[in-house]
Amino acid sequence: MVNNEDRFKKIIAHAKEYGFVFQSSEIYDGLAATYDYGQYGVELKNNIKNYWWKSMVQYHENIVGIDAAIFMHPTTWKASGHVDAFNDPMIDNKDSKKRYRADVLVEDHIAKIEGKIQKEVKKATKRFGESFDEQQFLSTNPRVLKYQEQIESIKKRLYSSLEDERLDDVKGLIEELGIVDPVSGSRNWTEVRQFNLMFSTQLGSLSEDANKIYLRPETAQGIFVNYMNVQKTGRMKIPFGIAQMGKAFRNEIVARQFIFRMREFEQMEMQFFVRPGEELKWFEYWKEQRMKWHLGMGIPASEYRFHEHDNLAHYANAAFDIEFNFPMGFKELEGIHSRTDFDLKSHQDHSGKKIQYFDPEINESYVPYVVETSIGLDRTFLAVFSYAYTEEKLEDGSERVVLKIPPFLAPIKAAVLPLVKKDGLPEKALEIFDGLKYDYLCFYEEKDSIGKRYRRQDAIGTPYCITVDHKTLEDNTVTIRERDTMKQERVGIDKISEIIGARLKGNQ
Ligand code: ATP
Repeated sequence: MVNNEDRFKKIIAHAKEYGFVFQSSEIYDGLAATYDYGQYGVELKNNIKNYWWKSMVQYHENIVGIDAAIFMHPTTWKASGHVDAFNDPMIDNKDSKKRYRADVLVEDHIAKIEGKIQKEVKKATKRFGESFDEQQFLSTNPRVLKYQEQIESIKKRLYSSLEDERLDDVKGLIEELGIVDPVSGSRNWTEVRQFNLMFSTQLGSLSEDANKIYLRPETAQGIFVNYMNVQKTGRMKIPFGIAQMGKAFRNEIVARQFIFRMREFEQMEMQFFVRPGEELKWFEYWKEQRMKWHLGMGIPASEYRFHEHDNLAHYANAAFDIEFNFPMGFKELEGIHSRTDFDLKSHQDHSGKKIQYFDPEINESYVPYVVETSIGLDRTFLAVFSYAYTEEKLEDGSERVVLKIPPFLAPIKAAVLPLVKKDGLPEKALEIFDGLKYDYLCFYEEKDSIGKRYRRQDAIGTPYCITVDHKTLEDNTVTIRERDTMKQERVGIDKISEIIGARLKGNQ
């Protein structure tokens, strides 16, 4: 049994070895927290995007998409609150010179206490065997209760200090808990300071402050500032949504865990505009819809959970995350937020332009309320990829690594492989390839033994391998091998497209 950390390392290595994800500018030793998607990575990513876009835009008569620029007028970020409040509390260790997020240091400390609880549970499971009741144990064992109390009190203090901007108290908490630098073991900390996560740059050739602009830290604001444009030109009636996907940039203090937390990443966001007072109904609707979307990828429900925000942003009146069981544990994958009329009102105030909707049903004008769904594309990629990564021991004692990516998301749908590189088999195989290529992304390869070629396709998650042999030349049949079962079937060439197609349906 490999532990989670080892598994994660293997997943990262596999992503690189098979052309899914590379460290950015690797030949220069890489750039921290930025990654490039390789030849198969980009396909998987595009397929996830496509699945999202279809389920949002194509399957809803009242949702349309846009593609706004990454650069926006700087006042946008004043209005959205990002200039003043998009901060993370940071702290430096004076000995190691390493920088940390103060809240993450405390949260890691909490995770250690949670680890102690898990240890107690393990010990007790061993001691009580079959008759062990975990729930009862957790709610009655004095040691566990003490740990839980500690966690609660640390959380309460951390979040209230952060909320009230009492950064000295966050430092006090770090000191009292005896938190040491994970690198150096030192307790020699600086003060806690706020660090704005937005990247800035200059517009044009002047480097005066007036020309300072930001790389957008979220895609949502591009939707808000275009609300009137879309509503008017699309003659949209409330409730309606605007969807968008694209790059976002955050100067994360600590970027780690592969593509989970990057400085340049992609978001897929949808803002749903509703009548004030109806937002919580729509919030529930979108919570359910979004979970359905995740489950539509064939990953079991046990890998997902809802997490209600401990601290609501001042403008939100409900917020849930969908968390996924990543290799490093359950973490946020998507946020569903009821943002009230905060953003539109603020843009109305800052721009001086009216942002209102006249609702003919109630004969009233109002600033719409917003329910947003905001998902990280890269995190979804990591979820699909890590769940799909499977090491298997086969009957003959050999091992294989197979990516059990749902076929509709798989980068390559079918590999066409001549058994040998002679006797006219390559020509026949290429003919089959040409017949399929307009419908499916296929792959052609003639080098190496057929067994090796199958393994390589398993490793990139190709659902079907089509092998052309001498019999093919006689009767126009091929063997088609299915990735997960490794079963091979002899079928007519004219049936291949149908067989591939049948497996791609269902999820979309
Ligand atoms: P976290 O708490 O993990 O920093 P967040 O709450 O700041 O995330 P949101 O602002 O709600 O995240 O952004 C919406 C989604 O964008 C997240 O659910 C996540 O999937 C994705 N996301 C946010 N920051 C990053 C990042 N640095 N790298 C990759 N994806 C990210």
